Amino acid sequence: MFGNSSLWSRRSVIKTGGTAGLAAAAGLPAGAITRPKPPAHGDARATIEQRVESTPIVDTHEHLIEEEVRLKGGSRRIRANDWSCLLSHYLDSDLTTCGMPRKTLDAFLGPETEPSQKWPLLEPYWPRVRHTGYGQAVEIAMRRLYGIDRLSGETAGRVQQGYEHRLKPGFYKTVLQDMGRIESCQVNSLESPFSESRQPLLLMQDISFLGMHIGPDIDSYAGKAGIAVSDLQDWHRVIDWWFQTYGPYAVAVKSQAAYSRNIDYEDVPAEQVQAIFKSRLNHDPLANADRKRLEDHLFWYCVRRATEHELPVKIHTGYYAGAGTMPLSRVAQNAAAASDLCRVAPNARFVFMHIDYPYYEPMIALAKHYANCYVDMCWAWLMSPVASVNFLKQYLVTAPANKVLTFGGDYIPVEPVLGHVVLARKGIARALTGLVDEGWLDLESALSLADPIMRGNARALFNLDLKTRKLQAAPWL
Ligand SMILES: [Zn+2]
Repeated sequence: MFGNSSLWSRRSVIKTGGTAGLAAAAGLPAGAITRPKPPAHGDARATIEQRVESTPIVDTHEHLIEEEVRLKGGSRRIRANDWSCLLSHYLDSDLTTCGMPRKTLDAFLGPETEPSQKWPLLEPYWPRVRHTGYGQAVEIAMRRLYGIDRLSGETAGRVQQGYEHRLKPGFYKTVLQDMGRIESCQVNSLESPFSESRQPLLLMQDISFLGMHIGPDIDSYAGKAGIAVSDLQDWHRVIDWWFQTYGPYAVAVKSQAAYSRNIDYEDVPAEQVQAIFKSRLNHDPLANADRKRLEDHLFWYCVRRATEHELPVKIHTGYYAGAGTMPLSRVAQNAAAASDLCRVAPNARFVFMHIDYPYYEPMIALAKHYANCYVDMCWAWLMSPVASVNFLKQYLVTAPANKVLTFGGDYIPVEPVLGHVVLARKGIARALTGLVDEGWLDLESALSLADPIMRGNARALFNLDLKTRKLQAAPWL
């Protein structure tokens, strides 16, 4: 500021002269500049809601199974092909932690109980969970898809009718695009490392590199690649095959290794893990330190391949799905380890998923500090809708707006994605409105953020124009 006399004098004028001072500073007669009237609260809120409502969203994380598999009820991921399937993921976790006995939950979710017999099993527990994000997403989905306002003993039968009615070819497009205004999804298949989708533009895919570095899962990866693995170099060739074969069609690579370890990966050279890999092939027990060194080496091998193929690296951080298994002392270390990844590999682009809930403030600091740190709100609106609003408000006035991704449904069944995206749009609108109300952003700025954070950032980061062209000519179609 020192030495900039023109800035100083202009500030003085503005400070002392109000709009007359502004006009004088611009060389205009007094009265030539009038302050725009701030919109009334209701106006701003309605305008923002309308903008968020009409903006298409890129869904950056799902576990959806292929529609034709779902229609046949042919996936072990969907236990019963009836209305309970909407509550199977993730609401089963809240049902467990609210006190529903395992046997009751199994009977509720399983195929051996008639759909008409399922409500009495759920009834005592439903009031305990219907207000969580998991519960709200399910109830919203039932409202939008089946026209049922409240799940109850009277309505459960109609929910089942609605469920059956919706389940027909094309229902993924109906649910996701027509009703959810989701432009495209990014699927992390739980069935195979890369799923050759029959709807590749709707269900774009990540390459899962989890089993490339954890385990490693030699059978799942080497079999498809047709490469016999007898040493570490062979395993490197298997990894290379997946990147060469599917890299052009994948949008990213993804790992949820944080369910079994911290994401503190050291760059261990190949020669230090050759013997450990041999032991793994021989099914010899590995010491924990050796296992970690092998995983660490393979993680960086994969990150380098991903970076060569211009694929962002998606990494699970924070909260665990399920119930009764989360070591929070280790989860709390994710953000610190994430900062090391960003620093060590400035050319890799890391997408830290789930806002590292509940440790989202350190993630905002990382996105602010590291050019290669992106934060993804996938799953977050479900875990904690209000924390997600707080996260987004804080993020937008702290870190660059191009590095936040605001939605990923993170579901196996498609129906509750609709409930989740409704929650997300509500939360995004709340966050932007809050920032306007509190005077941190003007309305125009808030409106201008909607498209990038809901759509544009993901399109740029994952190079979706190019991927669309590649996928239109995918060899498996
Ligand atoms: Zn997920």
